[in-house]
Amino acid sequence: MKRLHHGSLRENNRLLVLKTIFEAGEVSRTEISQITNLSPTTVSRMVKELMERGFVVESKKEASSLGRSRILLAPNSKAYKVLLFDVGVTFTTYAIGKFDKSIKILSRFKTPDTPDLFFKKVHKILETLPEIDAISMSFPGMVNMNTFEISYVPYLDWRKVSIKKFLRTDTPILMDNEANLAVFGEIHANSDMKTTLSAVYVVIREGVGTGLYLNGKVYRGPSFTAGEAGHTTIEFSESEKCRCGNRGCWENYASIYWPVRKFGPDKLAGDTILEKFHTLIEKPEAKKLINDYIKNISVGIANIVNILNPEVVILGGEALNFDDETIKRITKEVKQRALFEATESLKIVRSTFKGNPYLYGALLLAIEKNLFHITT
Ligand SMILES: [Zn+2]
Repeated sequence: MKRLHHGSLRENNRLLVLKTIFEAGEVSRTEISQITNLSPTTVSRMVKELMERGFVVESKKEASSLGRSRILLAPNSKAYKVLLFDVGVTFTTYAIGKFDKSIKILSRFKTPDTPDLFFKKVHKILETLPEIDAISMSFPGMVNMNTFEISYVPYLDWRKVSIKKFLRTDTPILMDNEANLAVFGEIHANSDMKTTLSAVYVVIREGVGTGLYLNGKVYRGPSFTAGEAGHTTIEFSESEKCRCGNRGCWENYASIYWPVRKFGPDKLAGDTILEKFHTLIEKPEAKKLINDYIKNISVGIANIVNILNPEVVILGGEALNFDDETIKRITKEVKQRALFEATESLKIVRSTFKGNPYLYGALLLAIEKNLFHITT
C-alpha cells in the first residue's frame, strides 16, 4: 500500500514537471522548482527520468547576468506525434502535431459527402504514417467525446456516426467540435488571456458555432451540444428551413452564405463559397450589404453576451478577415443591444492565433487527455 502511494505520488510529480516544461516551452530546473513548489532535488530527479524516457531535452545555454550559463529544458518534439484533422465543410486539412506544439500541415482534400468515404480516406493516410501516438479530429458540428460518435454535422448531414465503427485502429482517437478546440487553443496560446476565466469563441465559416470557456474550462454540456448558438432563433417570420430543421436560425444570417446569397453568387468570382466571400468583402459596392451582415452577426453576439456575461468574445474563422473598423462596429452594435451591465468590461477581439486554431486545439486535446490525463 505504502509503495503504491509512493509510486503514484512520484508519477504525479513527474507529470507535473513534464506539464510545466510543456507549457513553458523552455524553462530551467530552478524555475520548475519555483512554479511547482517541488524541491530542487526532486525536480532534478524527475527531469533526469523524463530525459531518459525521451520526453524532455536540454535546450540551450544562456549566459546569465552572473556570467554563468544556465541550462533550459524543453519538450522533446519526438516524444509524441499526433495525426490531426480539421474537417471543414468544403475541405479537410490534415497535419502532424508534435510534443513541442509544432504543427506541420501535410495536405488537404475535398471533404467527402459521406462518413464512409471520409474514413476510408483517413485510413489511407494512417497507413502511410505508421508511428503515430494518437489521432485527433476537429469537426464542424456536435461530437460526443464519451461515445466516440459524431452526433450531428448539419452542413454535411452526418448523423450518429460511430467513429469506432468506421475507423478501426489501435491508435487512440480524440475528437471535438471545432469551436471548442479553437477556444481551448486561443486561451492556451494567447498570453493576454492567461487570467481569463470566461470567453466565447465565435467561428464564422460556412456555418456559425461558438466555443464556450466558462469558469476556466471548456463547457460542452452533458450531450456535447453546448455552444450551438448558430441554431438559436433570431427571426420569427422566416419561411425557409435551416439545415437543422428549425426556421430563422442565427446561422442563416451570420454565416458567410448570407452576404454571398444576397449579392448573387453568380456575380462573384471563385469556385467555392469561401472564395466568393473573399471576393465580396473586397468590393466597394458591397459596403451596405456588409454593414447589414455585421448587424446580423452582432445581434447573435449580443444575445450570447446577455446569457453568459463573458469577459471576452473572440471572433474567428472568416471573421479574421475583418479589419479593425469592422471589429469596432461589431463592438458598438453589441453594446447598443446587450444589457449595459453585461458589456461594461466586455472585450470583443479577433483571434490572435497564427495558423490553424482547430489543429492546434486538437493537438493540445490529445496531449492533455492522453498524456497528462487532464479533462479539458
Ligand atoms: Zn438551424
